[in-house]
Amino acid sequence: MEFEENATIPWQDVIASNVMKRHKKNVVATGITPSGHIHIGNLREVITAEAVHKSLLKLGAESRLIYVADTYDPLRRVYDFLPGSFEKYVGCPISEIPDPFGCCSSYTEHFLHPFLKSLEKAKINIEPYKADELYKSGAFDGAIKTALSARDKIANIIDSVSGKTTPADWYPFNPICENCGRLTTTRVTGFDTESEIVEYACECGQSGTVPIQGGGKLTWRVDWAARWGILGVTVEPFGKDHAAAGSSYDSGKRLAREIFGYEAPYPIPFEHILLKGKGKMSSSRGVTISVEDMVEVLSPGALRYLITRVKPEKHIEFDPGLAMLKFVDEHDELHTGERGFVPFRHMVNAVQIARGDFKQLKGVLQRSGYDTSDEEDIMRRAGNAEEWLKKFAPDIVKFSVQEKMPPSAKSLTDKQKTALGELAESLEKEWTAEDLHDEIYRIAESTGMDAKNLFRAIYISLLGSKSGPRAGWFLVSLDMDFLIKRFNEVSR
Ligand SMILES: [Zn+2]
Ligand SMILES: [Zn+2]
Repeated sequence: MEFEENATIPWQDVIASNVMKRHKKNVVATGITPSGHIHIGNLREVITAEAVHKSLLKLGAESRLIYVADTYDPLRRVYDFLPGSFEKYVGCPISEIPDPFGCCSSYTEHFLHPFLKSLEKAKINIEPYKADELYKSGAFDGAIKTALSARDKIANIIDSVSGKTTPADWYPFNPICENCGRLTTTRVTGFDTESEIVEYACECGQSGTVPIQGGGKLTWRVDWAARWGILGVTVEPFGKDHAAAGSSYDSGKRLAREIFGYEAPYPIPFEHILLKGKGKMSSSRGVTISVEDMVEVLSPGALRYLITRVKPEKHIEFDPGLAMLKFVDEHDELHTGERGFVPFRHMVNAVQIARGDFKQLKGVLQRSGYDTSDEEDIMRRAGNAEEWLKKFAPDIVKFSVQEKMPPSAKSLTDKQKTALGELAESLEKEWTAEDLHDEIYRIAESTGMDAKNLFRAIYISLLGSKSGPRAGWFLVSLDMDFLIKRFNEVSR
């Protein structure tokens, strides 16, 4: 099958079919350095990987979806959210640093744990690995020995790919200093692959030996290439910066083949997620939306749709406000008709009418014709809508049904009051949302007023504001006795 030029086939199936030309048994890898809050830019990587993983399974290949947390990477600098005292940990592997907030077993856990919980909530099943555990368990021992012995060859490959010049005393391995705990200030002074030790000297003045197992880490480009073979990775999405000419994927390809005897995985470079009006998301610059927020707001299906409807090589422009409501509508459109499915937009209105009262919410949904038998599902969706209202919704979609007649209703014109009286009479009959909406237009016409003024009168009577949710749909979801009473009260 040749898929490349066929735009009707989903991109993940195109990739999966290309991958299957190489491998029937696959490991799709994703991962991150958990050095700060993990934002939805990183979620793109995981969802992209999951999409291809699922396509592989669908097309009959074997596949596993793994997630490697780079917990053995050094702390790069004292980020804004860290106390100044963390200066002493800069250069230390983040798995070995305490939690700056004091609540978890380590720095990495503080950021990794909520992310993994969020993936669970989004029903994304991954097999997690932690780099520090892999190194400490000896999984990298063979690769480290190979890399130390092939130092010159590796330096040549990296130099020729990146155009840099590796220093003469460089080694592809960073020992962890026993005195200061850093791996960015040490250099290798010798090694013995027989006794599996590495000699080093550190800028702090310390020198000595560390074991190959758990005593340090391969440098970044080499680590990545070694990992592919160790974990059997055959497919990997990564930010497009790693895919540029001379970048880590380019050197990784050669290192994998020429040093470790393994073919680099099928690459899926992906673009950034841009936050509307704020540019590229970046946890170090504070331009973020947390993954935790996103899984509180979007259903697992909508979350995947947000990411996978755009090809990996294209930007996703993300606006969590009104545009997100429209986007979820688009997703929901594909699912209307499913039993018990309540569109997000409707749920946003329903939870505002119900104000946290579940019995009331069920009533609102039932009056609008939704099946509410799956209470757990209804509660989950209602929770999504409530979180969105709290975190991202613009004021224009927010409203609150007034329990007493709003004072502003007194200032409605006589025409408006007459029309509301007529509407109260009409409400004695049963209505579908659409027909009731038409009825409002008919009443406006018969009382010789612009429909806009009648809509305004309805919103002022119920909400005390000049606008609100689409009237026909809004009214049928409310209690009819309440409506009739209110409109009569206003019309008097
Ligand atoms: Zn913590
Ligand atoms: Zn040191």
